[in-house]
Amino acid sequence: MIGSDLFVQAAVPEEDILPPPTLQYRGTKYTDDPRFKDLQAAFPAVWRRAWIRVREALGLRYQDYGPGHITLRLEDLPRRSKGADFASTGGRRGRQDIMLRAEHLLNGYSPFEEVLTHELTHAVLRHSLGNVHDRLPSWTRESLAMWVAGQGPSMTGWILGRALETENPLVQRNGPIVNGLAGHRHTGTDLVEDVLTIEFLHQTLGQEKFGRWIHALVEGTEAEPAVEQLTGMGWEDFCQKARRYVEDRLQEDLKNVHAPFRRAHQAVQEKRYEEAAGQFREITKNHPTHWAAAWCLLYESQCWFHLQKWEEALRCFKELNLSPHLTVLLFQIPGLKVKLMHTYEKLGKREEALAERERFLKDHADVPLKNDPSPPRTISLIKRTISLDGGWGRRYHRMDALAQRLALVQLHPLSDGQNHFTPKHGSWLNLIE
Ligand SMILES: [Zn+2]
Repeated sequence: MIGSDLFVQAAVPEEDILPPPTLQYRGTKYTDDPRFKDLQAAFPAVWRRAWIRVREALGLRYQDYGPGHITLRLEDLPRRSKGADFASTGGRRGRQDIMLRAEHLLNGYSPFEEVLTHELTHAVLRHSLGNVHDRLPSWTRESLAMWVAGQGPSMTGWILGRALETENPLVQRNGPIVNGLAGHRHTGTDLVEDVLTIEFLHQTLGQEKFGRWIHALVEGTEAEPAVEQLTGMGWEDFCQKARRYVEDRLQEDLKNVHAPFRRAHQAVQEKRYEEAAGQFREITKNHPTHWAAAWCLLYESQCWFHLQKWEEALRCFKELNLSPHLTVLLFQIPGLKVKLMHTYEKLGKREEALAERERFLKDHADVPLKNDPSPPRTISLIKRTISLDGGWGRRYHRMDALAQRLALVQLHPLSDGQNHFTPKHGSWLNLIE
């Protein structure tokens, strides 16, 4: 499976570990939330691990520019944000400001350590490279941060998982997932190839030479000539080998899960839901640490939901909540949480349902807008968010459906005790919102 730990815990000298900055919270929603208190308590240890990982992966010593040279703040999502970045880092040499969204850290979208490591990678690189950091080629900058943060598996699982039911998940609606590093418009789906190319470069060079590549960037050599110098391969040659490596890695990753997933999916299409649920469960059992397990749990939960077997559906939702790969479901998460509310409701657990609803309104401020009398506004907001991310037609369709349903939930409060929310099972696509 993709996601083996690439970094050996070598000793990083204590003086190279920057003490954690103050974690500033510029928001109000979570001040007394126990999840936020847990995050604060974990912060010093998370910071330290993130720092060691960045330091080891990049092989760069960080030059301290004095107090306040890295600031870290948490913010609440603004109401009516454009989906809002999960996190960002900005600044110049000598001062880097990291911003993390409180909601995304607490609502299951993004694990704290990964996000912090990702942003720290940007901060350290921009600190060393100055503005050159922002001019690195598309395949380098984000994928380097993702690779250091170990986000390759979640990116792979998010992108490939959406096409597991097709004959070849490497070919999606908008083209092949592996299509070379340049020569086309770069979109979110290119990130899998990009991040695995960094992995290939790291394997080809080894840690010491990989560090020299980063140093070459710091000294002003452009990324691609530096690859040529250090690998001894021409650029075209490198690209070809990298591409083959990426294809092999992805095929290997899909090897044991793709065929059984397709079989289970076929059962769903033939409305053999109980059988399908069993098949999805079997894949989860056989490959519990694979990212596809999260997709299987999602599909299984939908089968139970469809069959109105609420206890089973609840079990799936709870397992999903604990899944280390929950983040691969990304945009499915709000839909899942809505289903969870309704499952509680069907089970007569009114208090739990209302608690979930409250949490949803707090944690997904960018998805539905509380008491918004205008569902179309919510929909256009979501569309705008999605179009920023590459404009996937199918995703649009799904998000539309989701937005409408969420608006529905908003307009008909749970407290009326009625079965106001009955999913239409016209097609599987509608079911997996
Ligand atoms: Zn980034």
